Amino acid sequence: MEKKTVRDMNLAGKKVLVRVDFNVPIDSQGIIADDKRIREAVPTIEYICRKGGRVILISHLGRPKGKIVSKFRLDPVAERLSKILGKKVVKCDDALGFKVKEAIGAMKNGEVVLLENIRFYAEEEENDAEFAQQLASMGEIYVNDAFGAAHRAHASTEKIASYLPSGAGLLMEKEISVMQSVLSEPKRPFVAVIGGAKVSDKIGVLENLLDKTDVLIIGGGMANTFLKAKGYQVGSSLLEEDKVKTASDLLARAENIGREVFLPSDVAIGKGIDDSSQVQMVQADCIPEGWMALDIGPKTQKKYAEMVMKAATVIWNGPMGVFEQEAFEKGTKAIAEAIARSEAVSIVGGGDSAAAVEKFGLADKMTHVSTGGGASLELMEGKILPGIAALDNK
Ligand code: ADP
Ligand code: MG
Repeated sequence: MEKKTVRDMNLAGKKVLVRVDFNVPIDSQGIIADDKRIREAVPTIEYICRKGGRVILISHLGRPKGKIVSKFRLDPVAERLSKILGKKVVKCDDALGFKVKEAIGAMKNGEVVLLENIRFYAEEEENDAEFAQQLASMGEIYVNDAFGAAHRAHASTEKIASYLPSGAGLLMEKEISVMQSVLSEPKRPFVAVIGGAKVSDKIGVLENLLDKTDVLIIGGGMANTFLKAKGYQVGSSLLEEDKVKTASDLLARAENIGREVFLPSDVAIGKGIDDSSQVQMVQADCIPEGWMALDIGPKTQKKYAEMVMKAATVIWNGPMGVFEQEAFEKGTKAIAEAIARSEAVSIVGGGDSAAAVEKFGLADKMTHVSTGGGASLELMEGKILPGIAALDNK
């Protein structure tokens, strides 16, 4: 990686501002439903502590929109982090101000302070320079480990880096280097499995990956727009009429450059997304009026699984069907299981795809499951993320 990381920095005795992504799901009782994002930040925190640094953590949680919202306070996060680290985490009730400065002033080497939800300040999402400078003034080094927020140019993810020596945390480094190595020097055959709801969300990913992969496999809701582009009727399926042309252009370009693109040959259909009382399997060109394609069918599952098994590299983004419903989870599960069984280097990106892999208990069978939804999509699109671009080069 061409960016500096914590491993390139002299941390001993330094106040290190660390942007993390502790945007975890918290239920109505205030209980953290999934602490993966907290656990993923621990290596960086422990590394800085071990090197004698003082860790000042900055995070957002939810969308408080620039106001103090009690349910988005970070106290439950501090508690969980403290449990995982096995040591005290000093939680501040603000992100700026006299009390915060006092808490930071009292820190010893190896200690950890967590600031209050940074999005309680509207200046955060405005990428406000003065606010960023105020934040920066509380530390001596800035480390960004919030991969999940790296596609946002916010004060604590972007602007702040212009006021301090800066670098990537270990999670950030891992996320970027895994994706970069796969996109720049993939072992072939390189297969991309792209699904999910909408073509419009994924067109950038499809276009970037079409050039890089050997085989493109398409499923999920967005496959309907491609089926339509082939002249099939798709009944009441999720369809983006205004993207039919985009889909047919992509198919034409694939043919021009000799790239294989697979579309579902059969689909599981139902009467509605939340209605699994009637489910049928039909050929993809025979979706009846009033029915919706909600998953890839058994023949398609088998074919896609075979393609995945032959791959040396697999990128997967987007479920193959409405996997949240048992009746329509089979296609997504078949892909997840094939990737799990294969020897290929495998990367799963996208929030719902990661949730699916987690749901099927197969996350640890993948080479890498990205912690960032939007951020991982933008990396797959070949975009430069502002939170990464802002960091010091090596
Ligand atoms: P990711 O978050 O992994 O990038 P997306 O957000 O693009 O994935 O898509 C996930 C959503 O797509 C899921 O909620 C799933 O129910 C929905 N979906 C998948 N297949 C279909 C389909 N055939 N019809 C309607 N929705 C679908
Ligand atoms: Mg999603």
